[in-house]
Amino acid sequence: MFKLKKVSYHNLTVQIFIGLIAGAAIGLFFNILNLDEVVFFQSVFIDGIFHAGGQIFLRALQLLVVPIVLVSLVCGTAGLGDLKKLGRIGGKTVGLYLLTTAAAITMALSVAWLVSPGKGFELESEAEFEAVEAPPIVETFINIIPRNPIEAMAEGEMLQIILFAILLGLAMTVAGKPGERLLSLFQDVNDVVMKLVNMVIRISPLGVFCLIAKVFSDQGFDAIMPLAKYFFTILLVLILHLTVTFPLLLKFLAKLNPITFIKKFNEVMFFAFSTASSNATIPITLEAVQNKLGVNKSVGSFTVPLGATINMDGTAIMQGVATVFVAQAYGIDLAFSQYMTVILTATLASIGTAGVPGVGLIMLAMVFQQVGLPLEGIGIILAVDRLLDMVRTAVNVAGDGTVSCIVAKSEGQLDEKIFYRDESELKL
Ligand code: ASP
Repeated sequence: MFKLKKVSYHNLTVQIFIGLIAGAAIGLFFNILNLDEVVFFQSVFIDGIFHAGGQIFLRALQLLVVPIVLVSLVCGTAGLGDLKKLGRIGGKTVGLYLLTTAAAITMALSVAWLVSPGKGFELESEAEFEAVEAPPIVETFINIIPRNPIEAMAEGEMLQIILFAILLGLAMTVAGKPGERLLSLFQDVNDVVMKLVNMVIRISPLGVFCLIAKVFSDQGFDAIMPLAKYFFTILLVLILHLTVTFPLLLKFLAKLNPITFIKKFNEVMFFAFSTASSNATIPITLEAVQNKLGVNKSVGSFTVPLGATINMDGTAIMQGVATVFVAQAYGIDLAFSQYMTVILTATLASIGTAGVPGVGLIMLAMVFQQVGLPLEGIGIILAVDRLLDMVRTAVNVAGDGTVSCIVAKSEGQLDEKIFYRDESELKL
């Protein structure tokens, strides 16, 4: 019989971390020595092993996203069995997501305003750029309802899948015996898919290594220099949000130890960092939120996929700093009301856009459009966006984890024994 050797959670986290550091070291080595210009290194390593290894790992993660969201949310909703409770959890989750995103962008605007990262650039806008329209908010709401659930799954439309799963779960609870039978089938599928997640987590140190090695060999640190002030302002606000806002929320809204949270969640952040995609990280976030932080499936299966889609604090931070930066670089004075528009647009734009690499820039175009900043400003910050994308995605998923814990705690759905359990003895 095929058996998986047990490995401790702790060892695995260490291995993933080693993969990340080694990947960065090798990648930078390639970049600094310009090995990417040597055909052998380029084709065998950068576009060969690193690229293939990274993509295989990423796809293995992505293939789990739709099945796991559907199955675990159906089980979670059916397990809850109460429409009122579901509405309450939904309200709290969406409320907290919007609140943290608005707080993040407000902080970003304030810090950027103090630091003035764009002063001294003196750029002039001349090019005409094609406008990117923000989808009307009514459309976003209508689009949540899928015409065809199979199509929604094939397209990976997260909000539509979430809605379908909730409806199916609710119907199961009122369908009597057939509902019970179907639920037990879904529960079995859920257990099996979770095993698949574990299998992918096993290969993750190698996957992380390849992804990071590829990014760093393609992109060294030299791109950062001209934009150092912009880059480090964002980094500073991201770190502040991660180490101040989230811990305060955990401490005061949920009375949970933020250090324990960070320790148990850092592996998920490594994943988010290396994939730059909160969507692809969903299976890992879900696993950690339930099995390491003790959030009940009925809450986690809802908050995590929803968060990956609508909650992007890190991305909002980039948008805040980028707005101030570009306005200053082009010598444009934004009025207070325009800053308010930035906060509103950035918060709302995050609802309709999926958590995939680089989507933050598309949202940024919507923000610029709203306040009339030159879209070509985006071209300037492009050079450092890939690295920032990695860091902000880690912050995005940390926000999802934080809100999941707070909502679960407030609903009596957080097992503190699991939250505070020592992981060194725990096996995957
Ligand atoms: N990559 C981010 C995410 O998946 C979105 C972005 O900021 O571009 O959460």
